[in-house]
Amino acid sequence: MAPVLEVRSLTADHGRLRAVSEVSLRLDAGEVHAVIGANGAGKSTLLRAIAGLHPPASGTVLLDGDDVTRHPPERRVAAGLSLVPEGRRLFASLTVEENLLVGTHVARPGPWDLERVYDLFGWMRDRRRQRAEHLSGGEQQAVAIGRALVANPKVLLLDELSLGLSPKVVRDMYATLPRLLAEGVTVLLVEQDVSQAVRVATRIHCLLEGRTTLTGPPAVFTPAQIEAAYFGLG
Ligand code: ATP
Repeated sequence: MAPVLEVRSLTADHGRLRAVSEVSLRLDAGEVHAVIGANGAGKSTLLRAIAGLHPPASGTVLLDGDDVTRHPPERRVAAGLSLVPEGRRLFASLTVEENLLVGTHVARPGPWDLERVYDLFGWMRDRRRQRAEHLSGGEQQAVAIGRALVANPKVLLLDELSLGLSPKVVRDMYATLPRLLAEGVTVLLVEQDVSQAVRVATRIHCLLEGRTTLTGPPAVFTPAQIEAAYFGLG
């Protein structure tokens, strides 16, 4: 069976800076892969290139075996690839529900709709008419996840879920992952917090200056090996 998401030797630049260099990934259905790495390692650029928001210099992105490398972002969403961007990017003056509805515009048919999202995040149904700007950071992150889910993605790309959130909120956010996996969603996430990544991922990929320095199931590496790959030691 073809992997649900395959990235072959993806390279992406910011002007003259090579931000991502020949990165390859293969995600089978139901897996959670975590891309780790320090500030500026190229994690967000990699996710944005997979989502179609940053044109790659070279390489290929395959979704369920179909080459989507040249497809615009909305066509990738319609094909089952949704990004929760770093910083959430909600419409501040729209309500929770209006923000969720944005995600339904190019949705695939599937199990996720507003009601399922309200079931996933218990507090959200009662606050669906509140404007996004009045939510806490964690609540905004949940709405951003909900907006991606209502498009019924095969693969969910999560960029830095933990950014600016308290440890408890981060734990709550990650606690929703099993529910997504149970619905058949495959997850590729970017996480700066290595211990968090190691807890949830079936496979980790460490980037350093755009290159993969370590890849495999977290259990096969010692903390020292991961640290060396993260900081480029040894
Ligand atoms: P962070 O955790 O800080 O978000 P990251 O691992 O996601 O880092 P990227 O944001 O992908 O890394 O950045 C990779 C490299 O590309 C860095 O050197 C960064 O300075 C550079 N870069 C990122 N975005 C831009 C941009 N819009 N213009 C120019 N350079 C950029």
